[in-house]
Amino acid sequence: MISHVKKVYLETFGCQMNVLDSELVLGALEGRGYQRTGQRDEADVVLFNTCSVRANAEHKVYGRLGELSHLKRKHPEVVVGVLGCMAEREGADLLQRFPQVDLLVGPGELDRVPDLIAASRDGNSGPQQALAGDRARRSSTLDAAGDNLERLDLSRSMDAVQRHGSAYVRITRGCNKFCSYCVVPRTRGAEIHRPPDHIVDECRRLVDAGVVEITLLGQTVNHYRFDHGASIVVAGVVQPQVGPGGGAFTRADSSFNVGRKLTRFSDLLARIHEEIPQLQRLRFVTSFPRDFGDDILQVMADSERICNYLHLPVQSGSDRVLRRMNRGYSVSEYRELVARARALVPGVTIASDFIVGFPGEDESDFQQSMDLVRACGFKNSYVFKYSERPDTPAAGRLADDVPEEVKKSRNHRLLAVQAEVSTAVHRQHLDRTVPVLVEGVSPRGNPEATRTQLSGRTVGDLIVLFEGSTDLVGHIVPVAIHEARQLALHGAVAAPAEGPGTP
Ligand code: SF4
Repeated sequence: MISHVKKVYLETFGCQMNVLDSELVLGALEGRGYQRTGQRDEADVVLFNTCSVRANAEHKVYGRLGELSHLKRKHPEVVVGVLGCMAEREGADLLQRFPQVDLLVGPGELDRVPDLIAASRDGNSGPQQALAGDRARRSSTLDAAGDNLERLDLSRSMDAVQRHGSAYVRITRGCNKFCSYCVVPRTRGAEIHRPPDHIVDECRRLVDAGVVEITLLGQTVNHYRFDHGASIVVAGVVQPQVGPGGGAFTRADSSFNVGRKLTRFSDLLARIHEEIPQLQRLRFVTSFPRDFGDDILQVMADSERICNYLHLPVQSGSDRVLRRMNRGYSVSEYRELVARARALVPGVTIASDFIVGFPGEDESDFQQSMDLVRACGFKNSYVFKYSERPDTPAAGRLADDVPEEVKKSRNHRLLAVQAEVSTAVHRQHLDRTVPVLVEGVSPRGNPEATRTQLSGRTVGDLIVLFEGSTDLVGHIVPVAIHEARQLALHGAVAAPAEGPGTP
């Protein structure tokens, strides 16, 4: 008898964290005998890993769920699941609106997906739900939440790693910042930091499996700190103690000895760089401007294989708006950080994010954002129009008072300024040969051809387009740059490359 191989279709919305979560869930399901499929109609399980940061992403998921009602009527045995931030934020409301949904799993409970699918397929009554819920998440200990986190990450299947040479590794989950426009602290919960030994081990296994570039992920990745605890020795009595402070050092005191070990983000970067010499590129996203110390910049400067690239979202060039956003830094502090980064890390490229049309933003606030793009020389900026999101601190408290037409116009104007700046940044690379990690066939290329237009990235995260064989995907190749446009560099494979520090 030929047994039917169960197939799973998973569509991902949102950030890199969701991309990694999806990879981990698919790996766990493959471990239970599932096969991935890109065809929704042939799947036994249809999953959407969702994002609540912008209304657009949520509307797309509503659309997908609507499309599935017909499939579900014809094939009630197909399991339909909503994973991630929308499941966490909407909970039972989503089930009421879309009865075709069998499974709701929040981002902190994804390790339970295979069991919940099995329960659903076994015909257990009602939809299966695993949601932390705001109160439960806040009252649970970090250790308890960390167990869930670790179960999924530690069980990562190396077979499931997409062979494009790159992989994400999570180092923190959740966020404690509570920016007024953002739902992430509500959906992903409090910040949790993974043990450094686990992170280093995961990186090593990925490199052994063929990965050449690792991107460390965290909502505020540079805020990573793992406290190993401390021992206070007083008159021969040893007391364990856990708390904030210190660095990766042991400090002696005249009255008693304190042994404290805290792994900061810079320590983690240095350790991965030193202990895994076969790793060719190490990146990290997303950095929060307030937590950025010189220790991180120094490690970047000292470590040849740590990419000299920062994603440093500023969100606005106006102090008045930053205060209303609850970002916790001023424009001058941000500018000073950019100056420090440029001074300490030669050739560093910096990308940023902006929100335009935030409540109360006037033309003069907006002009300050335009000025900041020009002054900081960002390689690119992601620009978003503000829209009020339910369950955020701003919702209902700050009137969404900038007209849509004004938001649209500011969006276009800021992108136009950024386009000029991006072209100027790209021009600095003309007539140079730079190492490029080939990521795949560019959307303009023909995947069937043996020589086609490939797309890759420099150390500084600049996109490079060039012709080559698809065999190059996943490898670092030297590319001579002969054209600089707004969105990308264009070139041809050449030899030899300049050093790995070339942006
Ligand atoms: S730092 Fe702010 S914008 Fe980023 S995830 Fe945390 S709350 Fe959201």
